[in-house]
Amino acid sequence: MKVAITYHEDFSKHGFSVLKDRIRPSYEALLESGLIDGDEIQIIKPETTPLSLVEQAHSPMHMQNMSTDPYRDVAILSAGSVMVAAELVASGQAHYAFAYTGTAGHHASRGGCWGFCYFNDVAITIIKLRQLGLDRFLIVDVDPHFGDGTRDFFKDDPNVLHINFHSGSGQNYDGNGNNYDIGLGFDANDTQFLDALKSALELAKDFDFQLAFVIFGHDSHEDDYGGFNLTFKAYPRMAQIIKDYVGDKGLVFVLSGGSCAHVAERVVPDVIRILAGR
Ligand SMILES: [Zn+2]
Repeated sequence: MKVAITYHEDFSKHGFSVLKDRIRPSYEALLESGLIDGDEIQIIKPETTPLSLVEQAHSPMHMQNMSTDPYRDVAILSAGSVMVAAELVASGQAHYAFAYTGTAGHHASRGGCWGFCYFNDVAITIIKLRQLGLDRFLIVDVDPHFGDGTRDFFKDDPNVLHINFHSGSGQNYDGNGNNYDIGLGFDANDTQFLDALKSALELAKDFDFQLAFVIFGHDSHEDDYGGFNLTFKAYPRMAQIIKDYVGDKGLVFVLSGGSCAHVAERVVPDVIRILAGR
């Protein structure tokens, strides 16, 4: 298939309070878009992540702290959604994937978490992919909040290039650990964001990787709660730029921040339409 979409109804029922109300409207908009044909574009129901993998990623103290958290189960299911999506791409069963989640992941470090995140879905998935023989990964975090949890996992890992957009200021490129932070301020518009994305990918062009993740927070939209002032036009352009850059390698979009239903019901189908080449 061309695009696999991993979705579970628990994300809208039991997802984090701020994030969950956008899930069902965006899913229904996707169904009504006519994109889902059951052949080239399919919806897959994910399974929960094996607990052993979550325990490999996170410290015993963090696991203990999360043991009674009301969002624990949906966070593990969210990591499962990312893992199933990435495995479908890594195995060649899908060219691209879009993973719905009920909690976010990029503020979850080995030993802690904040900001609607509990377990780091992408870090857990990379452990699994490395067991399958993949080694080098590109992570493009376009959520306007700083992906500090993801950085905690990969700051010293030269085989993971972490391009991290945020609404702070300044740029910092660490060539040893392959960490790149791009602060665009709180009011970045479409042009500033897309130009910075192209520049970052140009700087990264010599980094070889097997699979790319996009940490896709639409809290960057002008109507949503995060930094940046992006319009609807920015999201399909962003997806096209990244898709063109990734080429034949694997590409997985991972839903991150955002609460506005009217934003999600437009940007999620728009991104999937680009992935499908429609
Ligand atoms: Zn965010």
